[in-house]
Amino acid sequence: MSFSPSNAVRAAWDETPAGALSMSEIARAIEIAKSSSFAALGTAFLTRLPAAPVPDPYLVGVSREMAESIGFDPDAATGRDKDGFAAYFAGNPTRDWPSDALPYAAVYSGHQFGVWAGQLGDGRALTLGEVERDGTRLEVQLKGAGRTPYSRMGDGRAVLRSSIREFLCSEAMHHLGIPTTRALTVIGSDLPVRRETIETAAIVTRVAPSFVRFGHFEHFYSNDRIDDLKTLADHVIDRFCPHCRDADDPYLALLDEAVRSTAELMTQWQGVGFCHGVMNTDNMSILGLTIDYGPFGFMDGFNAHHVCNHSDTQGRYSYSRQPQVAYWNLFCLAQALVPLFGENLPEEGRAERVVEAAQKVLERFKERFAPALVAKMRAKLGLEIERDGDDKLANGLFEIMHANRADFTLTFRNLSKLSKSDASHDAPVRDLFLDRAAFDAWAAQYRERLAHEPRDDAARAAAMSRVNPKYLLRNHLAEQAIRRAGEKDFSELARLLDVLRRPYDEQPEYEAYAGLPPDWASELEVSCSS
Ligand code: AMP
Ligand code: MG
Repeated sequence: MSFSPSNAVRAAWDETPAGALSMSEIARAIEIAKSSSFAALGTAFLTRLPAAPVPDPYLVGVSREMAESIGFDPDAATGRDKDGFAAYFAGNPTRDWPSDALPYAAVYSGHQFGVWAGQLGDGRALTLGEVERDGTRLEVQLKGAGRTPYSRMGDGRAVLRSSIREFLCSEAMHHLGIPTTRALTVIGSDLPVRRETIETAAIVTRVAPSFVRFGHFEHFYSNDRIDDLKTLADHVIDRFCPHCRDADDPYLALLDEAVRSTAELMTQWQGVGFCHGVMNTDNMSILGLTIDYGPFGFMDGFNAHHVCNHSDTQGRYSYSRQPQVAYWNLFCLAQALVPLFGENLPEEGRAERVVEAAQKVLERFKERFAPALVAKMRAKLGLEIERDGDDKLANGLFEIMHANRADFTLTFRNLSKLSKSDASHDAPVRDLFLDRAAFDAWAAQYRERLAHEPRDDAARAAAMSRVNPKYLLRNHLAEQAIRRAGEKDFSELARLLDVLRRPYDEQPEYEAYAGLPPDWASELEVSCSS
C-alpha cells in the first residue's frame, strides 16, 4: 500500500517500517504542534480534554480524495488497521495522550437568531491538531466526540443522520468549488443518543485551515478582554492574510478580508440555491468558509423565501435573506474588532474616525456582492458579454421560477440546451414550468439577448455546464443514504459521495441522481436537532 506523507512529517514516517500506514503514523502526523497554531494561543482560548470514548466504533464513510490530499493512505480506513482508524477518529484513546497533546475545545460566543447568546464554544467538537501538506496546514477536528466545558445543556454528541449530512455536504460543496470546511470520515457507534427519538451516535472528522468564527472575536470583545482579542486577530492575520500587515490599519484590513470572502461565499450559495439554515454569528467562518452543516438544504423547486430549517419559524434565514444576514453578521464582527482599529490614531477623535472607517469597509459588502451576483447569474445564463438589463433578465427568470416552483438546478442545467434561434428545443426546461406561456415570454427575451452573444449554442452550452451543476446533495438523496446507513449498509453513502465528486459532469450511469425529487421528499423536514 502506498502513501505519500507531506515533507513536514516525512522524517517521522521514515522511521516506520514499510507497509500500510498504521494509525499511530496518522496520529503522529496530526499531532504535530506548531508554534503559530491556534492551539498555541493557550488556555484563554481553549480547554484541553480527552474525547469521551464510544463503544464499538465502525466506519460509516471516508472521503478518499480528502485523505489523499493530506497524505493519508485512504486504505487505512478499510485495511488491516481499520479498527484502529475507526477508534482513533471516534476519539477513543488508542494510546496514552500526554496532557499537552490532548485535543481541545475552543471558546466562542455569538448572536443566535439575532439575539446575543453569550458564551457558546465547541460544545461537541474537539480539535486533534494539524496536518501539513505541501506547505498548507490544516486543522483536524472531531465533531460529536463528547461533552466539553462549553456543552451547556448538550450531550456533546451528534447523531448518525446529521453526521452523514455534514460529511456528504462538506465534500459536495468542495467539489462544487464553494469554500467550505471539509470532511475526512464519519465513524458510527451504537451508543444511543436522545433527540426527538432515540438515535445513534456518530463522529465526523472535519478538516479546515481554521475553525475560527466571527463569534470568537465577539467573545473576547464582550468580555472586555482586548489583549486576547488582539492575540486572536494577530493569529488570523499572521496565518491567513499576512498582507493585512502592509495596510495602514491591519485590523481594518482583516475586516475587509472577511467582508470580501463572505460576499464571495454568499454569491456562491445564492448561485446554487444553497440555504445554510442557521446563519448565527458563531456559524460564520472568519475565512469565509461554509461551516457547521445543520439543517441546510439545496432547494429543489425554487422559492425565493425558502426556509430550510423547520425550527426557523420567523424565516430569518430564508434563501432571499442570506446576503442581508451575512451583512448583519459582518456588522457584529466589525463591532467586536472596533477596539483594535486605529491603533496609531491620536486619541482625540479616534472613536469617530474608526467607526466611520469600519462602516466604509462594511459598505464594501454591498459593493462587492451585488455585481458579483450579477456576474454569477450572467455566467449561469451563458452570457459572455455584459449588457445593461442582464440583471433584469435574470430576475425575470427567478420570478417565473418562483411562481412555478420550477426546480432550481434543472432549470439552469437544462437552459443550456435551449437554441439561440429555434424554440423547438425548449422542452427540457419549458416542461419544468406549469405556466408555459410565462416561460415562453421569458425565453423570447432570452433569445433576443442571446442574439448579441458571440458564442454559438454548443460553446455556450459547454460553458453553462461548467457553472450549473447537475448533481447536488438534494435532501432525498441524503435521506436515502441515511436510511441505508441506519441498516449498516454504507454502499449508498459511498456511491453518493462518488456522484457528488463530479457535480458538473454528465454521469449517464447516475442519471437518476439528477432527477426531480420523488413525492415523498416534500415531507422531509430538517430542524436544528442534530
Ligand atoms: P449549532 O447551532 O449546531 O452550531 O450549535 C450552537 C452551539 O451549541 C455550539 O456552541 C455547539 O457546540 C453547541 N451544541 C450543539 N449541539 C450540541 C450538543 N449535542 N452537545 C453540546 N453542545 C452542542
Ligand atoms: Mg455551530
